[in-house]
Amino acid sequence: AVPERSREELLRLRRAHLNPTLSVAYREPLKIVRGEGVWLYDAQGQGYLDMVNNVCHVGHCHPRVVRAGAEQMARLNTNTRYLHDALVEYALRLTATLPAPLSVVFLTNSGTEANDLALRLARAHTGARGTIVVDHAYHGHSPSMVELSPYKFNGRGGEGQADHVAVVPMPDAYRGAVRDAADAGPRYGRMLAGAIDELRARGHRPAAFYCESLLGCGGQVILPDGYLRQAFAQVRAAGGLCLSDEVQVGFGRVGDAMWAFEQQGVVPDILTLGKPIGNGHPMGAVVTTPEVATSFVTGMEYFNTFGGNPVSCAIGLAVLDVIEEENLMDNAVRVGEFLTAGLREIQARHPGIGDVRGRGLFIGAEFVSDAAARSPDPARARVVVEAMKARHVLLSTDGPDDNVLKIKPPIVFSRANAEEFLEKLDGVLGALPVG
Ligand code: PMP
Repeated sequence: AVPERSREELLRLRRAHLNPTLSVAYREPLKIVRGEGVWLYDAQGQGYLDMVNNVCHVGHCHPRVVRAGAEQMARLNTNTRYLHDALVEYALRLTATLPAPLSVVFLTNSGTEANDLALRLARAHTGARGTIVVDHAYHGHSPSMVELSPYKFNGRGGEGQADHVAVVPMPDAYRGAVRDAADAGPRYGRMLAGAIDELRARGHRPAAFYCESLLGCGGQVILPDGYLRQAFAQVRAAGGLCLSDEVQVGFGRVGDAMWAFEQQGVVPDILTLGKPIGNGHPMGAVVTTPEVATSFVTGMEYFNTFGGNPVSCAIGLAVLDVIEEENLMDNAVRVGEFLTAGLREIQARHPGIGDVRGRGLFIGAEFVSDAAARSPDPARARVVVEAMKARHVLLSTDGPDDNVLKIKPPIVFSRANAEEFLEKLDGVLGALPVG
């Protein structure tokens, strides 16, 4: 058995023997030993309502997913060089949820791997190397993805922007350059032209535009209507491919669509998936068009030891089954609307919340110190997260100024869970000094 250690001992041993850059959540770190549905339990058996984990999408340790993985692990686990029903079934089931022509699947083990492979596909298809990304985006931890992640390369320890990368502003209609305008989407979309020119000036053509369908690390930003339509048109006119990174937001989280790009009325050339795809089991995927996939046939095989193994496929299939059978997209719509409306009601009484926005169970509440100037208030956001944790509700913050409360619970989050959250948040905000 694994020895049980105190939190202090675990912290000391982590510092001595693990990645020294690892952070821990909360001032007083939690030691979580068990999960079930939307709940996490500490060593003393105390429950915490998890509103952070968008990975354990259909709920922590969903019995159906656990059983699928355990049964397949007991039967067989190999690589994809043998024929296997579950691999082909997974590709069929996944692509059945996608619009044409997204019909060719590559399975990986993480979001980073998916985005890395996608870059190779885009380069092979276009013969170009330039890449356009949205400011403050995060697309992965490999060297090539750190180069595509302003969140990392512009942050502490970052090495700055690489020559083949251009950055467009976040299409943030609340605090960005274009605010509150009905045509904010197309106006931000037209800014892609500047990025394409910038690449051209440095001798690069665009291979791809990487864009999350809702901005996660950017602070739960909802793309304004018409943004992707305009942006994709600019990129495609310059010969580049358009990639939707749905590592955070895919698989029905937005509720009224399986994929968040659908809400923008576009179809990307490449879609990358991760996090929720395996409900916590390490999986990722790239889905693309037959045309792009064909360009990748250069003579070099793409082989991934673990990608698409039978255990992962069994788990991925179980996740798709649960989303469908438990009507979790409907749940995301209903509970998401209730939560957003509840947050707006609280906002009306607490001027510290400047903006509430969301789609389904992907919601953000932005803390500001001055509602008119929209000045970020990260200190208040931090205090709220700690105070909510003290009341056993787990939340996090993000955004360029770290002032956005991120709400992205497992999509089995219920109305009763939402009521508990809203009541506690109201209490926490009511107890804080005004201003
Ligand atoms: N893309 C996005 C949008 C992400 O949020 C993340 C992970 N936070 C990744 C890619 C990388 O995924 P992974 O950590 O599975 O490599």
